[in-house]
Amino acid sequence: MNRKVIIIGSGPAGLTAATYAARANLEPLVFEGVQPGGQLTITTDVENYPGFPDGIMGPDLMDKFRDQAKRFGAECYFKHVTKVDLESNPFKVWVADETFTSDSIIIATGATAKLLGLESEKNLMGHGVSACATCDGFFFKDKKVFVIGGGDSAMEEASFLTKFASEVQIIHRRNELRASKIMQDRVLNNPKIHIQWNTTLEDIKGNVDDGVSAVILKDIISGDIRSEECDGVFLAIGHTPNTELFDNFLNLDEKKYICTDDNSTKTSVPGIFACGDVQDSIYRQAVTAAGSGCMAAIDAERYLESIESS
Ligand code: NAP
Repeated sequence: MNRKVIIIGSGPAGLTAATYAARANLEPLVFEGVQPGGQLTITTDVENYPGFPDGIMGPDLMDKFRDQAKRFGAECYFKHVTKVDLESNPFKVWVADETFTSDSIIIATGATAKLLGLESEKNLMGHGVSACATCDGFFFKDKKVFVIGGGDSAMEEASFLTKFASEVQIIHRRNELRASKIMQDRVLNNPKIHIQWNTTLEDIKGNVDDGVSAVILKDIISGDIRSEECDGVFLAIGHTPNTELFDNFLNLDEKKYICTDDNSTKTSVPGIFACGDVQDSIYRQAVTAAGSGCMAAIDAERYLESIESS
């Protein structure tokens, strides 16, 4: 059956698009991907989503988003899209060998945590190296851990890790943080956290059986290399948009984010809309993602009306 709208992704953007599209009787089909609920499902307290003055746990918030979309008839499938063809309308979407077609597509595939590219980081991932304190912090009770990065993610991860770890060292390549003032203050006032400025992570020592044993650090002012013992390393150096599927079809910017028209979610292909972190490298908040998800559903509805009347 050809669909009016397929939504790819199920974070705040995708599920808000689903609620709006369902309420417009577009009977949206949502492919939730490998991480249903998106990045908020691996976070703890969300303190800045409007309407929740006491905060809410990320996974609980995303369950509410999904329940709301389903209440109006959105179909949410725990399936990962493997290929698309956006060459002509109806557009095609594959989940392994299964093919789906749709008159419009809303892309809300979000972004993924970046890694430094060290061989040791790859080998020890899941064995003392992590890109998600919420997922793995529990394993570092009374241990010493390093957090890499100077943005809000690094501050959030470091603060969260103090619930378990005995000591948290932040490694930042500059002498000033990129993080917002409130997140910086939280870290600077936490006696368990220490920041090592102008420092980069050069290597991680350890093995898959015993985990991480030390980090090799470089002072980028003096060039000195030093080794420090530790039990864990958390990468928090930003994100890459999940756009590999769309590279051949849509205009992407130099950082591979999907380009959308000003004040709109329209992409370079009519009928294809993008919302949330996959097209936003600047704000990247749950509330801005949700807002753009709403815009995408409205844009798709108007597009469908325009092709029906032409
Ligand atoms: P970000 O703001 O891009 O910060 C990335 C940090 O990692 C920067 O400090 C950067 O250093 C460092 N970095 C990047 N590549 C590196 C490399 N190869 N080696 C060493 N360091 C490297 O990313 P983010 O912290 O993930 O935040 C992204 C967005 O999400 C922001 O808009 C942020 O406000 C938002 N966010 C908000 C919250 C919240 O409000 N609760 C939580 C998390 C994220 P430089 O500073 O030198 O570039």
